[in-house]
Amino acid sequence: MTAVLKVEGLSKSFGGVKAVNGVDFEVAPGELKALIGPNGAGKSTCFNMLMGQLMPSAGKVYLKGEQITGLPPRVIWRKGVGRTFQITGTYQSMTVAENVQMALMSHHRKLFSLLPYAYRLFREEALALLDVVGMADQADRSCAILAYGDLKRLELAIALSNDPMLLLMDEPTAGMAPKERINLMQLTSDIVRDRGISVLFTEHDMDVVFAHAHHIMVLNRGELIADGTASEVRANARVQEVYLGGGTLYAAEGSHA
Ligand code: ADP
Ligand code: MG
Repeated sequence: MTAVLKVEGLSKSFGGVKAVNGVDFEVAPGELKALIGPNGAGKSTCFNMLMGQLMPSAGKVYLKGEQITGLPPRVIWRKGVGRTFQITGTYQSMTVAENVQMALMSHHRKLFSLLPYAYRLFREEALALLDVVGMADQADRSCAILAYGDLKRLELAIALSNDPMLLLMDEPTAGMAPKERINLMQLTSDIVRDRGISVLFTEHDMDVVFAHAHHIMVLNRGELIADGTASEVRANARVQEVYLGGGTLYAAEGSHA
């Protein structure tokens, strides 16, 4: 089966710093894959190149076999790569459902000048997406008063509004309490299963990574040093070296299903 995402020799240098250096990997259809590594390893730089925010210094990115290297973010988004956006000030004044309706309108290319009618447009579709993330009962609340964890679930509903084949999530659980982290990743993993999409995510909490990721990649100083199942990655000597001392890679032993 064609990989949903295929990356070949992906590299990015900032001045003399090789932030990402010759990275190769694939994400399969329906796969939930984690990219982990110490701070400064190059994870966000990788994500920014995949999303079109940063032009790679070298290498190629393929989406379902089609080369998308260096295309603008909007084009990559339209081709079916979703990402979680943080809801900014402007949108805080809208309700939960309106935020999803706006995203759906953008996906269907409706003009924002239709705003007086926007309330009715895509209302049902928005409610269906909110139901997927367990937020349907909060549809008419203002975003400004949402709890942090609920805001994150709303961001996930918005990311699903363009029906992506691949979701990119760079530290989706940042700032969340451990229990909320587990819940958000459980939700993500249910969505991956139910909708058959692929997800690539970064995460600091190794319990979350080892409990939910199908495969794990480890980046260190811009280079991929491991790519495999949880047990393969745990047994990898170079990975052990990188994480030596913290012992974090072993903390989740037995906690993954
Ligand atoms: P991670 O997300 O794994 O913590 P980053 O991708 O943010 O790592 O950073 C990788 C390396 O690239 C770091 O050394 C960082 O300082 C450097 N870097 C990232 N973005 C820039 C930039 N815009 N300009 C210069 N250096 C950068
Ligand atoms: Mg980062």
